[in-house]
Amino acid sequence: MNSLKGQCLCGSVQYEIKGEPQLSFLCQCRQCQRITGAGHSAEFVVPDEIVSLSGELKSYEMKSDNGNIISSEFCPNCGNPVLKKSSGYPGLLFFHAATLENPESFKPQRVFWASSSQPWDFVDPSLEVKQKA
Ligand SMILES: [Zn+2]
Ligand SMILES: [Zn+2]
Repeated sequence: MNSLKGQCLCGSVQYEIKGEPQLSFLCQCRQCQRITGAGHSAEFVVPDEIVSLSGELKSYEMKSDNGNIISSEFCPNCGNPVLKKSSGYPGLLFFHAATLENPESFKPQRVFWASSSQPWDFVDPSLEVKQKA
């Protein structure tokens, strides 16, 4: 079985995932734009029981456009967003793909919230597009 390793920008937070992502996607919602400072987030979803994480994460809670409480978890030292949790998907962690040691292994399947996309943000046209989540 594959193991995925990653860390925050400064390395204070490290993680290892024993298993495969359940879903990999890009999200063009406004919150993901703000969190990443770019046109979309790139995320993969794994159950929290296959994740071992070391280091401290700080969280910022907000309400998503579809009413879930989203917790954005970031390294308090370097500020790098590492993962998110959603009240709508208990037990799942949404990792930011570029925190991976080998981010080229990330294979997005879907684009969410294309209805909020920016005119300068282009994504792979072969991906399945959802206007909302
Ligand atoms: Zn850090
Ligand atoms: Zn989003």
